[in-house]
Amino acid sequence: MNQQLIDLIRDMYATDDFIPLHAPTFAGNEKAYLTQTIDSTFVSSVGKFVEEFEQKIQAYTGIGRAVATVNGTAALHAALHLAGVRAGDLVITQALTFVATCNALYHMGAKPVFLDIEPNAFGLCPEATAAWLVDHAELDDSGQCRHKASGAAIKAVMPMHTFGHPAKLDELLAICEQWNLCLIEDAAESLGSYYKGQHTGTLGRYGALSFNGNKVITTGGGGMLLCRDQEDGARAKHVTTTAKVPHPYEFYHDEPGFNYRMPNLNAALGCAQMELLEEMLASKRKLAARYDAFFQGSEFRFVKEPDYAHSNYWLNAVLCPDIESRNALLETSNAKGVMTRPVWQLMHRLPMFANALRGALTHSEWAEARLVNLPSSPTEA
Ligand SMILES: *Cc1c(COP(=O)(O)O)cnc(C)c1O
Repeated sequence: MNQQLIDLIRDMYATDDFIPLHAPTFAGNEKAYLTQTIDSTFVSSVGKFVEEFEQKIQAYTGIGRAVATVNGTAALHAALHLAGVRAGDLVITQALTFVATCNALYHMGAKPVFLDIEPNAFGLCPEATAAWLVDHAELDDSGQCRHKASGAAIKAVMPMHTFGHPAKLDELLAICEQWNLCLIEDAAESLGSYYKGQHTGTLGRYGALSFNGNKVITTGGGGMLLCRDQEDGARAKHVTTTAKVPHPYEFYHDEPGFNYRMPNLNAALGCAQMELLEEMLASKRKLAARYDAFFQGSEFRFVKEPDYAHSNYWLNAVLCPDIESRNALLETSNAKGVMTRPVWQLMHRLPMFANALRGALTHSEWAEARLVNLPSSPTEA
């Protein structure tokens, strides 16, 4: 089984060299746009590519306003800030996620509440979220959702579209409506993924994309804050660019701002990468189809897009029958130069989040013991 899988992967990538989990592809205008940027001297926070990249993402996702940021974590941090999350507040998120989701709220003094994932697409489980709120939360006289035991305000729900597979957004939106909570989508992994025909990151009030080197497209480092509402979008641009009030020469800043603006150099890469996005997504779907065919009829379950979604298949994943087969697959493939990785350790196991509130994590623990990510770089673009 493991050797046959390694043979399949070597065949897909047609190489005997080391095969990484996800490598970037630069097959288009990347060098040309970078050279243009350097020649223009506008390499930093002013320049035409930033706006162009924002407009390309707006057109592609259908979002009201997209604001480019230095990375995905910064986009999440700014989204939480705009959602009114402050020190001492609680934010509901999933225990199975990349640490960036939780770092963003930790650094504003907010605290995570870790709830379970649903076992199909590994997004935040709506049933677990509703049940936790019924047991532990109440709406105060002003309509603010509060944690009954501590009185802390619960401000937001932050699902993550794991490996690019969309979480159950309609159900989560209904819960947010009922409890006056802001839905912030961690869509860092899901550029090119659609929930019931709508691009991920555009259903909640805010969404965050990442263009880190291992994501679907890369800007070296970078992110994008998606705002449904134009007014939110204008505020997002303002606070992420030092909250400077426009003036021909005076420096006046009307609130504490962030310097989270994406440099023009990175945006130039982003514009070139957007031109290749459709080809890369098509290539990734072909890889996913080959993995899917390979695992048919075995005890291993290849992770497929849920029936309500169209996924980017950012990171292919397989559920092994048990932890022993998971470990054997990781051991054999990595020893043979084919990079595979287990899923992230659950957030409550990390020292800084060990004391966080949490619900039952049955599905998260089950997935943690079985998930393995497989090489997923596009093979053509
Ligand atoms: C990549 C990623 C982020 C953001 O990462 P940056 O490196 O800051 O761009 C956030 N959340 C998840 C789930 C991610 O995978």
